[in-house]
Amino acid sequence: MNTTGTLTVISGFAGSGKGTLMKALMSDYDGYALSISATTRDKRPGEEEGRDYFFVTKEEFESMIEKDELLEYASYVSNYYGTPKKYVFDKLKEGKNVILEIETQGALKVKEKYPDTLLMFVMPPSVDEIYNRLKKRGTESEEVIMKRMRRACEEAKVIDKYDYLVINDVVEDCVKRMHDTISSAKYLASRNADRIQTVKDQFKEFLKEEK
Ligand code: 5GP
Repeated sequence: MNTTGTLTVISGFAGSGKGTLMKALMSDYDGYALSISATTRDKRPGEEEGRDYFFVTKEEFESMIEKDELLEYASYVSNYYGTPKKYVFDKLKEGKNVILEIETQGALKVKEKYPDTLLMFVMPPSVDEIYNRLKKRGTESEEVIMKRMRRACEEAKVIDKYDYLVINDVVEDCVKRMHDTISSAKYLASRNADRIQTVKDQFKEFLKEEK
């Protein structure tokens, strides 16, 4: 059976609650590795270098692009965000299920490069709820919140390109559904071409004497 981990991309509007879901998935289940992105945006209160993001300058980010160190990157609300490649591949090889929590442009780029990637989109209960959550977070100005709302509206246009929807109702139920889906992905026939070929070869060998 396929022994490498599953690469899963989780996207969702700012304020959809995907951060909470990710934390719960990591703490409730084993075998996951959460990729830490690099970003040029300012650190928010409570965020830590190397835990939430690698906070870098625009020049540092552009040098990572030049050295081909990023799996994907995108510009989001006037800042760069990108996924360092090495960590992702190392963890997949170890058999871990790697989660990228990234926005839609990056998600679609990853799927194009690596078609086995699972794309999951977290849906909030309502649009009003998104606005209220961003407001309650209290870390951004009204102008930035409205930029994020407009960006969310743009992101809604590509949800149908995702493989799965995660309706964020009850956190534990949601996380269990996500875990079940991710764990099943290694049994996809498309990821087990070697095993299928082995069975075909064994049949050929087994039935040889019949001729
Ligand atoms: P925030 O500034 O709220 O932390 O993140 C803004 C958006 O950037 C979120 O939708 C988040 O998922 C996305 N994001 C975070 N890291 C990456 C990354 O490495 N690549 C891409 N394409 N998007 C990212």
